[in-house]
Parts: sequence; structure tokens; C-alpha cells
Amino acid sequence: MTATRMDGIATATAVKAELVERIAALKARGITPGLATLMVGEDPGSLSYVAGKHRDSLELGIESVRIDLPETASADDVRAAVRELNANPIVTGFLIQLPLPAGIDENEMLELIDPAKDADGLHPMNLGRLVLRVGGELNSPLPATPAGIVEMLRRYDVPISGKHVIVIGRGLTVGRPLGLLLTRKGVDATVTLAHSRTKNLAEEVRRADIIIAAVGVPGLIKADWVKPGAAILDVGITRVINPETGKAKLIGDVDPGAAEVASFLSPVPGGVGPMTRAMLMHNVVEAAERL
Ligand code: NAP
Repeated sequence: MTATRMDGIATATAVKAELVERIAALKARGITPGLATLMVGEDPGSLSYVAGKHRDSLELGIESVRIDLPETASADDVRAAVRELNANPIVTGFLIQLPLPAGIDENEMLELIDPAKDADGLHPMNLGRLVLRVGGELNSPLPATPAGIVEMLRRYDVPISGKHVIVIGRGLTVGRPLGLLLTRKGVDATVTLAHSRTKNLAEEVRRADIIIAAVGVPGLIKADWVKPGAAILDVGITRVINPETGKAKLIGDVDPGAAEVASFLSPVPGGVGPMTRAMLMHNVVEAAERL
């Protein structure tokens, strides 16, 4: 079997096209959605993600504000920047590009964000709402990557309800909130959340109908761990620099040979990454609609 490639770029384009009308309706009410990013340091991966978010904003007619602090910025500098964005009326939603440099407490900074402007859905109040509201319409933003993963599965008609999903990785931005989202009423997956202490990972993966790898270890998930016909979403990203060209290549967590066993495969690059950005735009538009 050769897996159907889940095209994150095309799917994200469809999601963004649906936002165009909503943005026009907002503008007719005199509201322009505005996204801001706050970045500290010059990590090449983060710089490229931030640039992509501003490109998407420009394409959709969303205002775009950028605060870039040097690697040497203090916690006080970051706190001041968060407060500035909370107060800026142009900004209807913003995010702190993670990771922050060592020594700056990410959780403290996420907590300082005005929950109404939390474009990444990572403020404790919004994560709490993800836990508290079972089913129905959520009146708060969902974390962008988990929301993008569920949206991708839905748009490719991959059945989720009652299926066994393994999420590998329990990080704040992907694995942990994704486990909560997949087990909400209305989504209804049965989830195994695996991590570095999980025993017999290969056996756990073999039992899954849907495999979601969010670790950051290239090729961790082997082709012979995959149940024939399972759907795979590769989320992990490792940047490797080609010494000859100096160019960065992105490598996922899933062995490419898995495409011969799976029914669907969302690749790296071109899979979940573009969907994350599309769901971020969705969150910014929704935040503006709540004004
Ligand atoms: P993270 O916070 O560092 O979490 C990594 C997780 O992987 C941890 O839970 C860790 O377990 C687990 N892990 C490490 N080695 C393992 C192993 N050998 N077997 C099983 N589990 C293992 O990272 P993150 O922020 O969640 O991001 C995860 C990956 O997704 C990264 O590669 C990141 O670049 C990528 N990502 C992609 C997108 C996108 O849009 N495509 C968005 C966000 C992140 P412990 O908890 O036990 O340490």
C-alpha cells in the first residue's frame, strides 16, 4: 500500500480561503484582525516560522505587528513586551514564539498574556477551558497545532470516533493538549499518550489506528511499527543543515518507509506545519469576532 499524502499546504489554503469572508465581515464592522508575534533571540527555525505567520497575515489582510528582542533580553524585557501587546488595540491576537531562551520562564510569560488575545491557546485559562468544556462550541482558542491536526484528519475523512490514537510526545504545544482535544465528546478517540518513559513503544504504536508523532527525533517511528492501513501524522521537526549547500532540511519523526504500510501520511515538511499557521489565523479571526 502507498499512503495517500495529506497535503497540508492545500488543506491550509482551503482553511484560509474560508477566513477571507469572515475577515471582510469584520472589516465591515470596523474591526481589522491583528496578529502580533513576540520573539526572543535568533533561532533560525523560529525566525522562519515567525516570517511564515506574518506572510499569512499579509495574504489575508490581517494587521501584523512584530516584536523581536535580542537573545540577551531579560525576563523584565519580555514581561514589558507582553504587556505592550496586551495593551495595543491593533493587536487582537498574539503569540510568544517558543522556546524562549534558557533562564526565561515560559509558563510565567504565557500566563501574562491577556487570555482574550491568546492566539496560540496556551494561556492556562484557555487550556483549562479545553479541559472543562466537554463537547459543544468552545468560546476560547484551541492550541493551533492540535487543532490543525484534528482539522486535517477531518478534511481527509479519516475516522476518529472510537479509533485508537497514539500520540507520541507530551509537550505543551502538541502532545498534551492534543490528547485532551482528541478525547473531547464529539471527537471521541481513545488515546494513548506516549513519552520518553513509555515501555515497548513499538508495541503501543502497532495497536494504533492513527499515529501522531510529536517528538523531534528523526526516524523514531519505524515502518514495521505501523499497523497496515493506519493513518500517520508526522509532527516532529528536526532542522539539519546540509554542509555543502548550507541550506536547512526539515526531517520528521517517521521513517519514510512507513508510507508503504499506512493509509494516510501527513509528511514533514508540507503537512501539519502549514495547518498550524492556518489555525493560528483562524484563532486571530475568532478573537476579533469576539470583540
Ligand atoms: P517537547 O516539549 O520537547 O516534547 C517532546 C516530547 O517527546 C516529550 O514529551 C518527550 O518525552 C518525548 N520524547 C523524547 N524522546 C522520546 C523517545 N525516544 N520516545 C518517545 N518519546 C520521546 O517538544 P514539543 O514542543 O512538544 O514539539 C515536539 C516536536 O514537534 C518538535 O520536533 C517540534 O519541532 C515539533 N512541532 C511541530 C509543529 C508543527 O507545526 N508541525 C508545532 C510544534 C512543534 P518526556 O516528556 O518524557 O521528556
